[in-house]
Amino acid sequence: MFSLTGKIALVTGGSRGIGATIARQLAGAGATVVVNYNSNAEAAAAIVADIAAAGGQAVAMQADVSQTEAAAELVKAVQKQFGKLDVLVNNAGTTRDNVIMMMKEEDWDYVIDTNLKSAWNCSKAAARIMLKQRSGRIINITSVAGIAGNAGQSNYSASKAGLIGLTKSLAKEIGPRSVTVNAVAPGFVPTDLTNDIITQMKDKIIEHTSLQRLGTAADVAAVVVFLASDEAGFVTGQVIAVDGGMVL
Ligand code: NAP
Repeated sequence: MFSLTGKIALVTGGSRGIGATIARQLAGAGATVVVNYNSNAEAAAAIVADIAAAGGQAVAMQADVSQTEAAAELVKAVQKQFGKLDVLVNNAGTTRDNVIMMMKEEDWDYVIDTNLKSAWNCSKAAARIMLKQRSGRIINITSVAGIAGNAGQSNYSASKAGLIGLTKSLAKEIGPRSVTVNAVAPGFVPTDLTNDIITQMKDKIIEHTSLQRLGTAADVAAVVVFLASDEAGFVTGQVIAVDGGMVL
């Protein structure tokens, strides 16, 4: 088990799904976790309570991280309350799937802003702190759809491919100050985001997965905890697929 004792971690979209499990596991490893959410205050409060009940430390902070000013204010609030920021997990994400002929411009903009611009917003604000600290971890939750593409997800796949470019560029840019930037690319994990698609395509997904099962949020969070740890200090610019061998 990797120790994150004394670290301050911010998880965007930590109120539900994969982000909630990442928040729990980071706290379980000893980090103090800021659970960001956009609209679901009750869910965020429940995760904070769960973490506290397990002996960990967490607070919830609302911000729509697709908005540049709101994301900057969120990161500032973390620094104000805790005096530093060690780990940023850009996890907030959404889908608005459709074939391109039916996809509206607002569906493109909404998904790009929520999944990609949010990460740029938060990374910019966090980099200001991490560069001064000469340490930090930025971990972007991308997707196998950003590596292999997916019919009906031109907006989502583009946002996730964009996150990979952002990861590699920032890794080159801020690595000299000992800040690492990596991406984790989950396969299919049952959450609110994927329940419909998994219900419709479960057998097909499993058939195309070498390990013959769906992923879990815990599978993803375990890799995030590693990337957040001191032991991962020489790993940067990488995209680690947690997909059971779906995209090889
Ligand atoms: P989810 O269950 O739908 O949870 C999404 C989270 O993002 C919620 O906490 C939500 O907050 C938050 N969020 C959405 N828009 C936001 C915004 N503008 N500002 C702040 N927070 C925002 O999704 P999930 O399945 O856990 O997905 C988490 C990440 O993993 C996403 O980036 C997704 O693309 C990626 N991923 C998921 C899968 C999968 O199979 N599930 C596979 C590959 C990649 P509220 O609760 O306030 O709405």
